[in-house]
Amino acid sequence: MTTSSHAQTNTTSRQTGGFSKALLRLFMKRAVIVATENLAGRFYLFTLESPAFRAVAWQPGQKVQIAMGSAFVARTFTPVDWDAATGRTRLLGYAHGAGPGSDWLRSARKNDKCDVFGPRSSLDTRAIDGPIVVFGDETSIGLACSLRHLHQAKAVQSFLETDDVDSVRTVAAHLGIGGLHLSQRTAGDAHLHVITEQLAALAANGATFLLTGKAQSIQQLHRGLKSAGVPAVRILSKAYWAPGKTGLD
Ligand SMILES: Cc1cc2nc3c(=O)[nH]c(=O)nc-3n(C[C@H](O)[C@H](O)[C@H](O)COP(=O)(O)OP(=O)(O)OC[C@H]3O[C@@H](n4cnc5c(N)ncnc54)[C@H](O)[C@@H]3O)c2cc1C
Repeated sequence: MTTSSHAQTNTTSRQTGGFSKALLRLFMKRAVIVATENLAGRFYLFTLESPAFRAVAWQPGQKVQIAMGSAFVARTFTPVDWDAATGRTRLLGYAHGAGPGSDWLRSARKNDKCDVFGPRSSLDTRAIDGPIVVFGDETSIGLACSLRHLHQAKAVQSFLETDDVDSVRTVAAHLGIGGLHLSQRTAGDAHLHVITEQLAALAANGATFLLTGKAQSIQQLHRGLKSAGVPAVRILSKAYWAPGKTGLD
């Protein structure tokens, strides 16, 4: 690289960095991590606090995005709860492996700062009337836990596929999540047939189904519920991740 093209690259990256900082200031809420805990295995519970969280009317099912050092790279989480009086929210993160989100969950410490975009709409739970059935995985535990904050009490049952049943049980006990049905992932996804049958059996009582987690599992469950005659209006889906894709929001 010549001296002039090197100088040009430095100028461009300085401009991008300046632009990113301006975006962070404009659109994101600066928060401090007031607690972080490795609950079990790859699961981390975070408590974030910000004066800007006090003005927020949070709804269970909404999402937040955390900037990973730049306004252009963010990872998405589902608040477990939101206390507007203290300006605090909690997130349950699953550090699945390699990626900026997983790295952040493993390395962030108490008193570190972070930039938060949201909360914003993701799964709209406001109009749900009657029982709720959640399908998902390790990334859906925050959602399952948040639903107990719905204004009209609704019976919630959650069916989660996981690689680590023991850790999910520990996390659920810590957060006090009831109505949980756990399935160990199997080669060939045979466990999804069993879960489809379990969910279809609950359709008759007027349940609304929230399908979350891995995109391909959601598709399979969606097809199964439709074949079982569940009306489309009672199936809400949101993919939280898909193999080979990064940073879904
Ligand atoms: C609306 C919404 C709400 C979400 N809420 C939560 C939440 O509350 N808690 C939570 O832990 N996650 C949640 N997620 C999922 C989380 O945002 C993703 O898992 C995120 O991509 C992980 O970031 P990463 O940087 O570690 O991996 P990425 O850089 O995004 O991905 C790297 C690789 O890892 C794979 N990958 C990503 N996630 C997983 C996974 N869970 N298991 C196996 N492989 C994976 C990707 O397919 C990709 O190949 C949510 C996602 C969405 C869209």
